Amino acid sequence: MRRKSGIESYQMFRESGISLTPGVGQPLYRQIFDQVAARVSSGVLTPGFRLPPTRVLAEELGVHRNTVVRAFEDLVAAGFLVSVVGRGSFVTSAPLPASISPPPSRPSLPWVSLVSRAASAEPLGRADALAGPAPSGNPVNLSRMEPAGELLPHELLRRCLDHVLRDRAASALGYSPREGLPRLRELIAAELSRSGVPAEVDDVLVTTGSQQALDLVARALIDPGDPFLVEESTYSGAINLFAVAGARVVGVPSDGDGPDPAALERHDRSRAKGFYMMPNCGNPTGACVSAERRHALVAWSRRAGVPLIEDDYGADLNLDGVPPPPALKALDSEVIYLGTFSKKLIPALRVGFLVCPKALRRQLVPLKHAMDLGTSVLLQHALCEFLERGYMRAHLAKVLPEYRARRDALAAGLSEGLPDGVEWTPPARGLVLWLQLPEGSDPGAVCEEASRRGVLVTPGAIYSPTGRSRPSLRLAFCGEPPERIAVGAQRLCRAIDAAAGRGRGSGSTRAPAIDVL
Ligand code: PMP
Repeated sequence: MRRKSGIESYQMFRESGISLTPGVGQPLYRQIFDQVAARVSSGVLTPGFRLPPTRVLAEELGVHRNTVVRAFEDLVAAGFLVSVVGRGSFVTSAPLPASISPPPSRPSLPWVSLVSRAASAEPLGRADALAGPAPSGNPVNLSRMEPAGELLPHELLRRCLDHVLRDRAASALGYSPREGLPRLRELIAAELSRSGVPAEVDDVLVTTGSQQALDLVARALIDPGDPFLVEESTYSGAINLFAVAGARVVGVPSDGDGPDPAALERHDRSRAKGFYMMPNCGNPTGACVSAERRHALVAWSRRAGVPLIEDDYGADLNLDGVPPPPALKALDSEVIYLGTFSKKLIPALRVGFLVCPKALRRQLVPLKHAMDLGTSVLLQHALCEFLERGYMRAHLAKVLPEYRARRDALAAGLSEGLPDGVEWTPPARGLVLWLQLPEGSDPGAVCEEASRRGVLVTPGAIYSPTGRSRPSLRLAFCGEPPERIAVGAQRLCRAIDAAAGRGRGSGSTRAPAIDVL
């Protein structure tokens, strides 16, 4: 790139004219900062270019000289300018990146034989294999368990981030302590204890999303070939991780109360490394395990020597205000308990946590550190601020009635239009509803037909460790407003009718826009 002469730069600076808009919220010194920085970054102002004296620029712009001085000071602090006493302010001489040409092409390496068995684990590719083309238009999306954009408290989070950046500055921008910020671990432990989950601060390990907590459990417990138990319909992201770790993932059937004790007894001597489950609101089933069954599960775990992994991803999402029965962790200190702020607050925080049995801490902490060198300290501080200011309570008070209304709109639409033979129960907690289609139905065909009619849902097969399940669909009701959910329910009911009318078991497994969320 040819360097521009000083005169050329000066002319371009003049011609590109800094334009200020007073009273638009952004202070004038910030506007000057942004515009000069943009000109430096884009190469309009080249290294070594001398900016006009602050007095001259202030006159040209019609602002107080101090405004320009402040902008220049910030530009110097940020590294765009250097100031030389008695000579003026110059664009720094950091070289602009040279444009590079792509490397010469060569025969591809034998990647198929190079990639590990873990990266080729069957469940990982399942969602891709099932996914059809992206749907067009603006379909009602019941396939993602993700809070809708309009329900995310971005303004409250912005205040917390502003505060953290202003008050904590550098200490919020480094690496985190290995276990997570003590301040956050204390807040999590206190909140868990209030909700009946015994947790000592030392046992709380902050993770990068609860997905990392699951990965950590998988890495800590599973050797290739080990059996690992899950519910027959369970979170596909967990199946993926257990399979990647080399486990033989085995489904345990459930009845109306939860995982079937008789089925579990068959694993008494299987030396399974763990049983992963979601007692409060299953994903994808929305089911809650009864209090009695929880006691039975804990008794089985002790007898069989198989740890229980309790994923409470939907904690606090009690749509009817009724808390679930006591947590497994409250019944047995050896349970590994996982939680997250993704569903009840903001997925992008990527903050989850794990409450681990004391004896496991020594292994989990270095393992977690090896995985990512710590969860974002900036976001941990922002979350602490959010919790300490009581924003969480206010946020839940706002979103819970909204989620209830969304669930009720879905339930009303389904009650009206579903054909006979489809089984479902409106969930009391969480954000998903499970439809069990009549035996012999083809969920893939239903998903395809539903997509053609403008509603996206997910087939049950991706929630099964074997990829085969009773015909079923998961509907997530958090991402669309009630009016659109009602429309989506209507379209889905018609799609189920239409797919049934075309005959059963056509073998289609394609479903558009599948996501493991
Ligand atoms: N557990 C369950 C049951 C989930 O559905 C998810 C995400 N959908 C996770 C854990 C992981 O979520 P996150 O990493 O955002 O905490």
